[in-house]
Amino acid sequence: MSDIPSPGPGNDKKKPKNSGGPQFPFGGPKLPDPKKFGGWRFSLVYIIILVIGMSLFNYVFLNKVNPTVDFSEFKSKIVTGEIKRVELTDSYFTGYTTLQRVSSRTPSTEPVYRTVPINDPDLVKLMDEKGVSYYAVSREGSTILNIIFSWVLPIAFFFFIWRFLMKRLGNMGSNVLSVGNSRAVIVAEGDIATRFPDVAGVDEAKDELVEVVDFLKNPKKYTDIGGKIPKGVLLVGPPGTGKTLLARAVAGEAEVPFFRMSGADFVEMFVGVGAARVRDLFKQAREKAPCIIFIDELDAIGKSRINNIGGGNDEREQTLNQLLVEMDGFDATSGLIILAATNRPDVLDPALLRPGRFDRQVLVDRPDLKGREAIIRIHSKTVKLGDEVDLEAIARVTSGFSGADLANIVNEAALLAVRGGRKVVEQKDFNEAIEKTVAGLQKKTRVLKPAERKLTAYHEAGHALVAAFTPGSDPVQKISIIPRGYALGYTLQMPIEDRYTITQSDLLGRIDVLLGGRVAEAMVSGEFSTGAGNDLTKATDIARKMITDYGMSDRFKNVALTSRGMRMPGDAAQEPMFHREYSEATQQYIDEEIANIVEKRYAGVTDILSRNRAVLDTVAGQLLEKETLDEKEFKALVGAGADG
Ligand code: ADP
Ligand code: MG
Ligand code: ZN
Repeated sequence: MSDIPSPGPGNDKKKPKNSGGPQFPFGGPKLPDPKKFGGWRFSLVYIIILVIGMSLFNYVFLNKVNPTVDFSEFKSKIVTGEIKRVELTDSYFTGYTTLQRVSSRTPSTEPVYRTVPINDPDLVKLMDEKGVSYYAVSREGSTILNIIFSWVLPIAFFFFIWRFLMKRLGNMGSNVLSVGNSRAVIVAEGDIATRFPDVAGVDEAKDELVEVVDFLKNPKKYTDIGGKIPKGVLLVGPPGTGKTLLARAVAGEAEVPFFRMSGADFVEMFVGVGAARVRDLFKQAREKAPCIIFIDELDAIGKSRINNIGGGNDEREQTLNQLLVEMDGFDATSGLIILAATNRPDVLDPALLRPGRFDRQVLVDRPDLKGREAIIRIHSKTVKLGDEVDLEAIARVTSGFSGADLANIVNEAALLAVRGGRKVVEQKDFNEAIEKTVAGLQKKTRVLKPAERKLTAYHEAGHALVAAFTPGSDPVQKISIIPRGYALGYTLQMPIEDRYTITQSDLLGRIDVLLGGRVAEAMVSGEFSTGAGNDLTKATDIARKMITDYGMSDRFKNVALTSRGMRMPGDAAQEPMFHREYSEATQQYIDEEIANIVEKRYAGVTDILSRNRAVLDTVAGQLLEKETLDEKEFKALVGAGADG
């Protein structure tokens, strides 16, 4: 297995699923990638070879290898008459055996003698006596070649090194030489081939983005009416669900340039660099408008500043501030739209989500059964499938998989088929690929085991049914057993109208709905699971507030037991601080009263659900089958056998 390259969602693998831990390395210095280092070393070898080569060249051609002899021997050679001609330079006395000076270009083969000069006044006298021709040369061999080697080449060499280093530094993230130049890749118009049909299983998100495309194509239509289009749209969802793909599809559909940057790209070693990049990015984008700026992994810069008390990250804060300034600075009619993606919307700075910024959020969730089948179909378009391959069956067993997981499975199956020497991909290849992936995903608790799935289905059905049977409760919009974040499933309720005041019975109804999940679980499995932990926290919270804040208990009927403190300046997101203004005895009463309320409601909910056990079973069964039920489907099921 190890010889198969594992393709697919590389980034998905590294990121822990929606967990609390830090997800993006930011703030640290950026190392150039190892490949670049390889190139660096490679070039170094070249330089060393060059230097050695040059010295050798010098050695061989410029200083003919002449034996250096003792001064006394040199003198005696003159005495014997072997040396007929002597060339005097500062560094050497050279004796030749011929009188005729040969052209210095043709290397002479005559024996020559060299010696290191000694200040000997007798030498000249000796040479006169022997009739030796002697002359001095100011610099040894000042030929053109020599000039080239001693001046031109070294200069050229250093120039080469200088150029090389400059280029190298320029590549290394431009910290020193070109601070703040945006590294956004500008993709020219029409370059993006991605279209909406390439993205499947996220229909709600697509519906929202169609409007953005329309605006980019005919901005006049909107500005004529005076309509305001959102400047920023935030795509929220787990990794690998196609957020990046969707952003590209928007640019592709609208046929506008697409500037893509990752939040991590902005966060640099030096304070101010990120901010400069943001400025630069927006400047470029404004020139190219209409266009799309896509900031992937927005949380890398958009992390809430609130949690930074004492020791914030200056660089990130400056970058974030610059982003906010730029977003406020451009006119909504300028044809610039900012898309951003994150899988941690919870950590984003609230300032980013204010009106005029990323005020529209689009949920990009893991696909349901139909969506998964469509995604598999898209990705197996280029793959030769065997006749018996059943894509729906594959979709059925891949609950909880993201789009990237599914793309990976198709690819993996194709590789398995190749390895098995098959011409087409068969069902068994898919099965093996799924098995491999499931093992990995189960570790991340994204794929539910059958027993867990059933319990989750009953849990969500319980919430939904209690909501349906509680008068005044918000209607159920969607039920799902596709895991999302920490939750194994979810039930979505949409308020019909904005509520400004909530009555006591509304609050109790909310507690009922929250308890519904746990009650339903207990009814099918006869025991409690930890799945409802969050529900209980919320239910308890409501009960406590009823007593301490809203004065809805018997003993403290019209007394608020807590007082609201001042808000910390600048953190609108945080609840005001509460001060406890009651005694220990009261605390005990509150605790007991909470338990009372919850227990009473629990009994009531058990009653509702046991009377409607048949509907509960049907809804849970349908959930297991389809994974998601929308409002209409759910109403149809409840309407059939409700007992009110
Ligand atoms: P994200 O940005 O949400 O982490 P990506 O858009 O990078 O996910 O998705 C990675 C790859 O997975 C895509 O290039 C595509 O091949 C595949 N993919 C993910 N979601 C979908 C989808 N909804 N429809 C089709 N392909 C998808
Ligand atoms: Mg992405
Ligand atoms: Zn629940």
